[in-house]
Order: sequence, then structure tokens, then C-alpha cells
Amino acid sequence: MLPQKDKRRLYRHVHRILGTKTPLRADCGTLCGKRCCRGDSETGMLLFPEEKTVLHVQKNGRRQVAVCGGVCKRSTRPLSCRIFPLLPVQTAHGIRVETDKRGLGICPLVRHEENVRFSERFLHRLKKAGKLLYADADCRAFLEQCLAESAQATRIVEAFLK
Ligand code: SF4
Ligand code: SF4
Repeated sequence: MLPQKDKRRLYRHVHRILGTKTPLRADCGTLCGKRCCRGDSETGMLLFPEEKTVLHVQKNGRRQVAVCGGVCKRSTRPLSCRIFPLLPVQTAHGIRVETDKRGLGICPLVRHEENVRFSERFLHRLKKAGKLLYADADCRAFLEQCLAESAQATRIVEAFLK
């Protein structure tokens, strides 16, 4: 586990790797009216372990959620916002990227992923960032939890479709 100071450095490094790149080359917000940014006083984006934010923070069990009300300064977005709707996955062969099925209910990129061409540049950068995140025990645990919830969301949708 990295001390807090090093976690800040880790997230700064990850932000630098991701840069201003986005999962799609075009602005996907025009497809859906920015559904993932339509927060309210109750909902928001999960913060990575010890991630700091200028946004209001609420507890969600042992995790923290940044509540934004649907508006933020782009440069201060939490990491979850920067990578949504994708998640890096650690495998025996390195990092791969998959869609975050927790977004099935709101994100057309997740619902129609077979028809979506995500930006190769972004995927490459997310794999690089994922390598750093998985090297940190807290971030690895956080991502594994996100992936478990993503798998659970898939199972729920499949159960409805049966
Ligand atoms: S919900 Fe999906 S398509 Fe819409 S803005 Fe968010 S990431 Fe883009
Ligand atoms: S913090 Fe910004 S990018 Fe993230 S959900 Fe809120 S408005 Fe959208």
C-alpha cells in the first residue's frame, strides 16, 4: 500500500498518461445528453482509494463517492469519470480493457459496444495507466471490486432477458 503522498503522485501520473484523450474520438455526450454526468445530490462517481477531489464527497459503505450535480471543471474530474465507460483488467498476458457493465442502464457505448470503435489511443493509454494502478494494492482491490460489480450487472441484465 502506497502512503497518501505517493497515491497523489500515482494519480497525477495516471492523469498525465490519459491526458485529454477520451474513450471515443468524438464527444460521446452528444449521443446521450451526457447521461453519466446527470448526477444529483445522491449519486456520483466512486473515488479511487485516497483520491482527492474538489467535489462534494459522500460515503458509500467503505468507499467514497464524488457528488457533482452534473457540472465540473474538466481538469478536476475524478479518475472514474476520465475512464468511464471502460475498466482496465489485469490478465496473465498484461492489461486488457473492457466496458464497465455498471453503465448498461445509462451508457449507449456499453449497450452497443459491438458497434463502437473506441479510440485506439485511449485504449493504449488506459492499458498503460492500468498497469500502474494494478501495481498498487489498494487500487488493484478497488478495480477488482468494480469488475465484480460489472460482472454482476451483466448477470442481472442476462437474467432479465431470459
Ligand atoms: S453515458 Fe456513455 S455515451 Fe453518454 S456521455 Fe457518458 S460515457 Fe459518453
Ligand atoms: S465529475 Fe464531471 S465528468 Fe464526472 S460525472 Fe460529474 S460532471 Fe461528469
